[in-house]
Amino acid sequence: MTWIETAAMTSVMETEEAPTSASAEQLQTEAPPQVRSLRELIDRVTGRRIPPLREVEPSGLAESLPFPFLAIVGQREMKLALLLALINPAVGGVLLIGPRGTGKTTAVRSLVDLLPSVPRSLCYYGCMPEDIETGGIDAVCPDCAKKYAEGQPLAKPDRARLVELPLNATLEDVIGGIDERASNHARMRLKRGLLNQADKNVLYVDEVNLLQDDVVDALLDAAAQGSYTVRRGPLSATYWSRFTLVGSMNPEEGSLRPQIMDRFGLRVFVHGLEDPQERLEAYRRVQAYLLNPRRVVAEYLAETELARTEIQAARNLLSEVRLPDTVASKGLQLTHRLKIDSLRAEITLFEAARAYAAADARSEVQVEDLAVVAAMALRLRRSGFMQAYFEQQHSEEQELNAVLAEIAG
Ligand SMILES: [Zn+2]
Repeated sequence: MTWIETAAMTSVMETEEAPTSASAEQLQTEAPPQVRSLRELIDRVTGRRIPPLREVEPSGLAESLPFPFLAIVGQREMKLALLLALINPAVGGVLLIGPRGTGKTTAVRSLVDLLPSVPRSLCYYGCMPEDIETGGIDAVCPDCAKKYAEGQPLAKPDRARLVELPLNATLEDVIGGIDERASNHARMRLKRGLLNQADKNVLYVDEVNLLQDDVVDALLDAAAQGSYTVRRGPLSATYWSRFTLVGSMNPEEGSLRPQIMDRFGLRVFVHGLEDPQERLEAYRRVQAYLLNPRRVVAEYLAETELARTEIQAARNLLSEVRLPDTVASKGLQLTHRLKIDSLRAEITLFEAARAYAAADARSEVQVEDLAVVAAMALRLRRSGFMQAYFEQQHSEEQELNAVLAEIAG
């Protein structure tokens, strides 16, 4: 086996040298810590030397602040996958696979504080300038058409959001339906569904393996096209739906349809923490958070701000990150040798490697970047069924040719 195959078979993260973390004192100072790149920040905060949390007094308030992403102990691959998906939407999202209670949902919800800036519609109906470019002036509501004619903006920069698709969501919730309060304009007679609200945002689907089939189909169509059309009688309207899909599932509760599995770029197995010291630290942080969320959030504020800035910087750098032919050919060798059919494998592998290079503040992908992301981009891509099927076809053909040769001879 070549090095790169070994990299795909084993989790790179586990064999990697434990990163050196900053001293506890450094993390406790108020001034933002100095890092060279996002990658370095992640290494430091998720390193095995865990910075202790300062003592936390109970706040006595019920607050719903997300647990700080950088306070999550261990789970380096999960964190890295989520950050790569934020840096480069072309990675194709993330699927987190693991039992209950391993922090999957906590990690996804904690992304809220790290989300980058995206253009956001100023209108209730979600009209975007792109609607006019693709569908003409009638594709937006009359108010927006007027604004556009007057040269006023239809969208402004805003922080991306985390939109959750609840398990009991109906098809109508997801794609939208007739708004009884009605006006004459198609867009205004249809309610925006969750898939449109998720445009340019992160769409989180917990227990994605338990979703209703019609909802999964709508999700797949929107994810494939970046838009979807709702038709209700004579009404029809097309909505943008360009989201970063993050799903989580517990395989004990059911499997995932191959079509939707293929749709997820990065795949991470989330195991419980094994190191007793890490488990104890995780317990302490969760207890401190339950006691006084605001205090724990404040403790990680400087790193959180820094991480958000670094993510934005990596996103801005991404368009300049090149994939040299020599590196690309190694990646193609890898998928070929592993007998992976889906073209999405290479897309995810290369786009994740580009995001990783950008997170490391480099404008060229190296073979080492492929090695870091290979496991998460390529695992669960090989179809045992297809392989057996092709082998069976092959032997059938051989048999057929042999019989043909015999008869002809
Ligand atoms: Zn509008």
